[in-house]
Amino acid sequence: MSNHITSDPPSRRTPEPVHPEHAAAPGVHRHLNLIAGQWVPPSGGAYYSIRNPARPGECLGEFANSTAADVAAAVGAAAGAASAWADTPAPQRGAILSRLAQLLDDSRDELARIVTLEQGKALGEAAGEVGRAAAEARFMAGEAARPVGSTYPSERAGLSCQTVAEPLGVVATISPWNFPVVTPVRKIAPALAWGNTVVFKPAMLTPWSAVYLMHLLDRAGLPPGVVNLITGSGSVAGEALIHDARVGGISFTGSTDVGRRIYEGAARRLARVQLELGGKNPAVVFDCEDLDGAAREIVAAAFLCSGQRCTAISRVIVSDDQAEALAGRIVDYVSRIKVGDGLDPETTMGPLVSHGQLRSVAQYVRDGIASGCPTLAGGRALTEDPERDGYYHAPTVFDRVPADSPLALEEIFGPVLPILRVHSFEDAIAIANSTRYGLAASLFTSRLGYVHDFSRRVQAGMIHINHGTASQAHVPFGGVKESGQGAYSIGHTASEFYTNVKAVYVRW
Ligand code: NAP
Ligand code: MG
Repeated sequence: MSNHITSDPPSRRTPEPVHPEHAAAPGVHRHLNLIAGQWVPPSGGAYYSIRNPARPGECLGEFANSTAADVAAAVGAAAGAASAWADTPAPQRGAILSRLAQLLDDSRDELARIVTLEQGKALGEAAGEVGRAAAEARFMAGEAARPVGSTYPSERAGLSCQTVAEPLGVVATISPWNFPVVTPVRKIAPALAWGNTVVFKPAMLTPWSAVYLMHLLDRAGLPPGVVNLITGSGSVAGEALIHDARVGGISFTGSTDVGRRIYEGAARRLARVQLELGGKNPAVVFDCEDLDGAAREIVAAAFLCSGQRCTAISRVIVSDDQAEALAGRIVDYVSRIKVGDGLDPETTMGPLVSHGQLRSVAQYVRDGIASGCPTLAGGRALTEDPERDGYYHAPTVFDRVPADSPLALEEIFGPVLPILRVHSFEDAIAIANSTRYGLAASLFTSRLGYVHDFSRRVQAGMIHINHGTASQAHVPFGGVKESGQGAYSIGHTASEFYTNVKAVYVRW
């Protein structure tokens, strides 16, 4: 194995044991599940390996391929830890989150390297992700000490009325592979702040960051069983987790199709869900005086993480009269993107996360070319033999894309930016609203009237004016239509998912 990180950070209590009866291949570290504070092998004895998307020949480690029995044990541990954790004074819970935030900052370089190795994004982006996770954990540390509930005037003398916020109990958190640190922290930190215990299933492709995060939580002083880690597949471990009757809430980030399935399953037992799903986020450009600034923001928002972001700008809708000038500037910024191994300091865009993702993106691009859309940049995979040389695809820009093309309607989740030209602002708004998604939307303009119109009429959870689709660490985050369901995450609105309201009447 040629990567240089072979061990996890030192833990206080729970070193990951090496199980001789479950020995991995020489030089490959085998990671276990974390249940009730113990690192335990999967009950079926099965493991799977993960690979570096920049050099797929390189095995990064083996991880537990968990069974339904492992999930049941983890949920049992979380249920067992629930009442003591809920009774822990909230500021003490917050203090653990403060320490987590500090540990994330302190281990930023090492954890960023793990993110780049398993996910592929450029190292600077990975470091930014870890810093962002620290900021979100820090916000939630403070949230643990802020007021919850209200006091009401009573209709009757001698009676007081108040509401309190109670934890749900056990929360299941299921995350995708594109942000393997910040998405889990965005779920685990608020769960803990408001007194819930957690069973966490990371994406199969990115479990290493998840294991590292468990060590940081341990070093932060989290008691055993409060957060439990189960690695393995969505179809086995994920399914077992979402159907366990002891799970009071499911916070899921991932594709719309899996989110819908989770919502259906949860409805049967009336479990609460928080779903953060896909997007097809438009950038509308109309009467814009600063086309260069618009192009810069659009290209950054479109190609970060190789376009594998739910909030990536994934279509540009521009007025005919500005289309040529904007396209030229977009191509200019795209030509400056340096594609390569994320560990190389020169790299600004890494590989796609997997061969499957590369195949899917390359197919969209081939179909786009075949349909006659002009390719202004890129247009192909960059490696002949991706299993040997990495899952690289050129950043690609299409012009004059028809509004009914799959390029314009479907979430490609890769470095592909279609440009749609329109005659009127009315058409721009209609097209912006024409997909099944409603996550984020940007408008670049110098006209105040458009700002108001766009903010009011575009169906999206988050609106950005003269700004790419970048969110902040304390501002509510979520989507409408098929982009999401349930409470917005990030910031104080997360409490609507992580707590139940209880009304308390006291006569004296
Ligand atoms: P995904 O296929 O939906 O998987 C997400 C997670 O769900 C993974 O941990 C997956 O496990 C698990 N899973 C799969 N099937 C399951 C099932 N039947 N029951 C329970 N869990 C199951 O999504 P992805 O491919 O990892 O990520 C890409 C998608 O995520 C995109 O659509 C993107 O837009 C969306 N996303 C949304 C946001 C947001 O905040 N709105 C953020 C990031 C990504 P496996 O790893 O085993 O498949
Ligand atoms: Mg998937």
